[in-house]
Amino acid sequence: MSSKRDYYEVLGVSKNASPDELKKAYRQLARKYHPDVNKEDKDAEEKFKELGEAYTVLSDPSKRDAYDRFGHDAFDPTKNPGFGGFEDMGGFTDLFDLIFGNASSSRRRTGPQRGSDLEVRMDISFEDAVFGLEKEVEMARVETCTKCKGSGAEPDSKVKKCPTCQGTGQVKSVQSTPFGRFETVRTCNKCHGEGHIIEKPCTECRGQGKVRKNRKINVRIPAGIDTGSRLRIQGEGEEGIRGGGPGDLYITIVVRPHATFKREGYFLISTVAINFVQAALGAEVEIPLLGGSKQKLSIPEGTQPGDILTIKGKGVPHLHSTKTGDLKLIVEVKIPTKLTKKQKELLEQFYEEDDKSNKKGIFNKVKDAMG
Ligand SMILES: [Zn+2]
Ligand SMILES: [Zn+2]
Repeated sequence: MSSKRDYYEVLGVSKNASPDELKKAYRQLARKYHPDVNKEDKDAEEKFKELGEAYTVLSDPSKRDAYDRFGHDAFDPTKNPGFGGFEDMGGFTDLFDLIFGNASSSRRRTGPQRGSDLEVRMDISFEDAVFGLEKEVEMARVETCTKCKGSGAEPDSKVKKCPTCQGTGQVKSVQSTPFGRFETVRTCNKCHGEGHIIEKPCTECRGQGKVRKNRKINVRIPAGIDTGSRLRIQGEGEEGIRGGGPGDLYITIVVRPHATFKREGYFLISTVAINFVQAALGAEVEIPLLGGSKQKLSIPEGTQPGDILTIKGKGVPHLHSTKTGDLKLIVEVKIPTKLTKKQKELLEQFYEEDDKSNKKGIFNKVKDAMG
């Protein structure tokens, strides 16, 4: 008699739970009892195993059917020799990885596999973002070992076809039992699914056929790029496996701020400081542009602090067209803090003149109002 708990009970679902419900329940509980989370807890490890076993059975329609009909007996090797035991199904950590999206690292595949994408961050200056540049990017990438040319074997040693699986990487067994015909396909234990056996592993890559290398490539950064832009460099990611194409390289741009210029979309924003006489009478001033050159700008008569003046076409180039944004200048009016006696007299005269005209204005307005 089995002392095992019912698989449905282990997952906390009903007998007619859908595959999605099963998966959801498994995910939740597996996170809770995963050995990485509960390092000290022996009980959690047991629970995790129990959980993996329950899910392995219930997530496979034919196994679930067998379980529904025969209970735990269907998977008891003493009662059903067609079943090879749970450990042969790859172990539950593999199952966990498979469900949580880490399958490629633990599952060995035999077909071609595309290389992974790589992601690097690149810090560039404000000017470089506006004008574009060609820049060297350095990154670590896994590449084919040059010593063994990727075979994983020392140059003087041989690579043999695996005698256990005849090079297929898989072992199939078919058995007829009272519960039906069971066909099991397992990863070959001898070659770990690779299909070949290396006699003397390469010392450079320790038999992996791959080594991690630092690599530099030149990348063209287009003018007008901004923080958060992602550049995709096709084929510069990790190499593919067994003839699969390479992954891509993604470069995430971070633009360092500038001391005097800011950016809003394709507008460049800066300030222009003038004195109050220039503001009142108008003037022509020289504006420093991003990148070092200068340009004349005329300040119209009666310009107010906070007014915005525009220099067309001196902003940021559009990323996907030939257009260029404008430079926007916010006017700052400087009020003098030190005045000569003469300047003070002139300002007082100016004030009296201003005051007189205002008073007259008010007086006339009052007179008009009284009829
Ligand atoms: Zn090697
Ligand atoms: Zn093999």
